[in-house]
Amino acid sequence: MPLRLFNTLTGQLDELTPSDGKALRMYACGPTVYDYGHIGNFRTFLQVDVLRRFLLLSGIPVRHVMNITDVDDKIIRNAAAAGVSIGEYTKVYEKAFFEDLESLRVERPEQIARATEHIDRMVQLVQKLAAAGAAYQAEDGSWYFRLKAFPEYGKLSKKDLSGMEDGARVDVDEYEKDSARDFALWKAAKPGETSWDTAIGRGRPGWHIECSAMAMEYLGDSFDLHAGGEDLMFPHHENEIAQSESVTHKIFARHWFHVRFLLVDGRKMSKSEGNFYTLRDLLLKGYKASSIRLALISVPYRHQFNFTFDGLIEAAAAIDRLRTFTARLKTGTFAAGENPELQAAALEAQADYIAALNNDLNTAEARAPIFDLLRAANTAIDQGSLFAGDRDAILAVLASFDRVFDVIEDHDAEPTRAALAWAEQAGRMNDVAPELLARQGLTDEAIDALVAERTTAKKQRNFARADQIRSELAEKGIVIEDSKDGVRWKRK
Ligand code: AMP
Ligand code: ZN
Repeated sequence: MPLRLFNTLTGQLDELTPSDGKALRMYACGPTVYDYGHIGNFRTFLQVDVLRRFLLLSGIPVRHVMNITDVDDKIIRNAAAAGVSIGEYTKVYEKAFFEDLESLRVERPEQIARATEHIDRMVQLVQKLAAAGAAYQAEDGSWYFRLKAFPEYGKLSKKDLSGMEDGARVDVDEYEKDSARDFALWKAAKPGETSWDTAIGRGRPGWHIECSAMAMEYLGDSFDLHAGGEDLMFPHHENEIAQSESVTHKIFARHWFHVRFLLVDGRKMSKSEGNFYTLRDLLLKGYKASSIRLALISVPYRHQFNFTFDGLIEAAAAIDRLRTFTARLKTGTFAAGENPELQAAALEAQADYIAALNNDLNTAEARAPIFDLLRAANTAIDQGSLFAGDRDAILAVLASFDRVFDVIEDHDAEPTRAALAWAEQAGRMNDVAPELLARQGLTDEAIDALVAERTTAKKQRNFARADQIRSELAEKGIVIEDSKDGVRWKRK
C-alpha cells in the first residue's frame, strides 16, 4: 500500500511516489536564521522528518533539499543593530538551528542551500522572468513580479484574488495575509545595507525568489513535493509557483505538504505574539528532547496542535513505558520457541502502524498498535508464555517503529548537557530548573560535597578516586582549581 498524503494543490489525498521512478525529490522551506527557533518552527521540521523517515522506511530513496534564509529584512535590521555583518550575525543562529535539529533527532536533508550562496542563480531567474514579460524594474531599480502575467496565481491557496490591483506592489519580506500584489524579486540597494553587484543592478534578493531558484537548481524544473508550515502557503508558496512556472511552463511541485500550526491557548505560537518557547527553554526546564519530539509529532500534521506542558508529561510517560518494556525484552531470559498468538500480534502491530502512516501520516493512530502489542507482551511475560522467538519478533517491530519515531533508544543525555553548557555561556543559568541541576548532580551543594570528597581522597592518598571526581566534574563543565589557599571550583 503506497503512502497517500493530502495535497494542498489538488485538495485531496494523492499517492506519493517518485515521478522519476528513482528518488522522491522534495524541497522544504527552511528557517530564517535571525534568532533561535521556537518549537512551532520545529513542529514543522519534525513533521517533515516523519515524512522523510517514513519514505525511507518504505524503501523510497529521498533527495531532500532545505534552504537557509540568511538574508532578509529582519536579518539586515538585527545585524545592523548589533554592528556586525549579516554573515557574522546569521552564523550563530544557523549553528544553533542545526544543534536543535540534532537534539530533536531530525535527520539532515541531503542538501542545505544558503540564499547568500545562490545569488547568481536568482539573478538569472529574474532575467528569465523579465524576458518572459513577467518581471519589470521599478524607478528605484528594484524588480517586481507582474502578477497579471500569471493567470493561475492563487491556484494553491484557492484564494479569491479577483479584487487584486494591477500594478500595486509590496516589497516587505514579512508575511502578507490577503492582498495579492506585485511582489519584490530583487530589492535595489539602500545605503548601508548588504547588497550584491549584479547584472540586474546592485541590490539583494527578495525572500520568495530564493526558494524558486534553489529548488530548481537542485531538484530540476519539476519535482515531487514541496513542504512548509501552513503560513507559507500564501503568499510565499504561491509566489514560488508563479516565479517558476512563468519561466518553465512546467508544473513546479506536484505535491504540496503543509503542516498546521502549533498553537498556545488557541493562538499561533510565534515570535511576534511573544507566546513562544525555544527548544532550549524547554530543555532547561528539565523536559527531555525525546518528550518534546514525541509530543510534537504525535498530533498528525494536518491538525493544529495546542501546546501544553501536560502534553510533554504524557509523552515522557509513553516513552518511559516503551523504554522499560524494551529493556525488559532485552535483558530477560526467554525459553526457545514461539507463541503463535504473539507472533500474530507482532505482525498485526507492524501492519497497523504502517497502515496508519500510509493513511496521510496519521502518527496518532500509528502509536496505538504499538502500545497494544506492549500490553499483550507484558501479560505474556508475566504468564511465562513469551518465548525467544516472540522477543525477536517484537523487538523488530519496535525497531521499525523507532526508525520513524526515534524515541525508544535513549539519546537524551547529550541535548540536556548541550543546553546546560549553552545556558552557562549565554548567562541563562537562572532559567535552569532546580530539579534539572539536581538530576545532573550540579547544585552548588552537590559540587561542594564532591570537591570535599576529593580533598579527603587526596589526603588518604587515594589518587584514583580523586582523579575520578575531577574528571566526573569536568564532564559536567565544572573545573577544579587547586591553589595554596585551598580548592576552588567554577563552572566552565
Ligand atoms: P521561519 O523561520 O519563520 O521562516 O519559519 C520556519 C518554518 O516554521 C516555516 O515552515 C513556518 O511555516 C514554520 N512555522 C512558524 N511558526 C509555526 C507554528 N506556530 N507552528 C508550526 N509551524 C510554524
Ligand atoms: Zn521557501
